Amino acid sequence: MIIQLDPGATSAQKEKIQEVLTSIGYKPTAVQTQRASYLVCIGKNEFDIRRLGTLPGVADVHRVSESYKLVSRKWKVGESGIDLGDGVMIGAGSFSLMAGPCSIESEEQVRSVAKHLASQNIFIMRGGVFKPRSSPYAFRGMGMEGLKMFSSICREYKIKIITEVMQVSQIAPMYEYVDVFQVGARNSQNFNLLDELGRVDKPVLIKRGMSGTIDELLQSAEYVFSAGNERLMLCERGIRSYETAYRNTFDINAIAILKEKSHLPVIADPSHGIGLREHVPAIALAAAAAGADGVIYEVHEKPEEALSDAQQTLNYEESEQLIRNVRRLRESIG
Ligand code: PEP
Ligand code: MN
Repeated sequence: MIIQLDPGATSAQKEKIQEVLTSIGYKPTAVQTQRASYLVCIGKNEFDIRRLGTLPGVADVHRVSESYKLVSRKWKVGESGIDLGDGVMIGAGSFSLMAGPCSIESEEQVRSVAKHLASQNIFIMRGGVFKPRSSPYAFRGMGMEGLKMFSSICREYKIKIITEVMQVSQIAPMYEYVDVFQVGARNSQNFNLLDELGRVDKPVLIKRGMSGTIDELLQSAEYVFSAGNERLMLCERGIRSYETAYRNTFDINAIAILKEKSHLPVIADPSHGIGLREHVPAIALAAAAAGADGVIYEVHEKPEEALSDAQQTLNYEESEQLIRNVRRLRESIG
């Protein structure tokens, strides 16, 4: 159950509400986000909901039986949107394309991709500077120097940045250069990281873990929300299955189910989802048709020379085709 409190609820009123909750067998946790105050209550007993609804200080009461609460659609019927400023919106009806290289590699590379995106009216660029790599000898990213360069070039083009944060100690130095923090698949259940991102007033995109269930992804989002940050989005990027013909098994079902279960924007990552350049545009279309609020994909001026994920990265021509087709599909399905 979620109790939304009146913005002006007094401490005495809150205490009284908590007392009533305990008396009916519920365990309340107070949640203060950047937008509102809630009591998230765990319990199973039957009771007359009017008993709570009429208490002073209570704005709204919602029964939510799922293990995740605040990210559930059961209490928030509409769609949550994220305003990145300068007219760049994610979710709540708008469809977002976000693209960029797997890794930030050089000034020339960033400038070239930024120009490509701006020419296509795309104003969110992805690119990792801290790269989780299976091999310690692979390119692991340019780090903070790369992020500063990435940020200064993107600001010239009025492009917002989404980039992966791998650990808690990186949040503070990265903060001023980042518009959206990405939590990677390998960190999807790093609860310390999620908790800390809940205390940050910047949006967060959480990727589904490689073997994560939909419920686990929603619980990860619940961590960030309940720690204070409501500006969240969920990302399906494929899961590991027995299939070896492609990199991951992109779970189209997850898009539809996440949209049904949560009010948060759902973003599809077809690049990591299939891992094969030639099929990325088709999977992007499938995700858009399944109801995704956006697509994030990898693009590079010379994909074959990319320092990471070359095999799944599109060139500009392929990228333009993806953009054209996805926009056309969105128009045709309204
Ligand atoms: C990435 O976005 O480049 C990345 C490493 O993604 P994931 O965490 O989904 O593997
Ligand atoms: Mn990648």
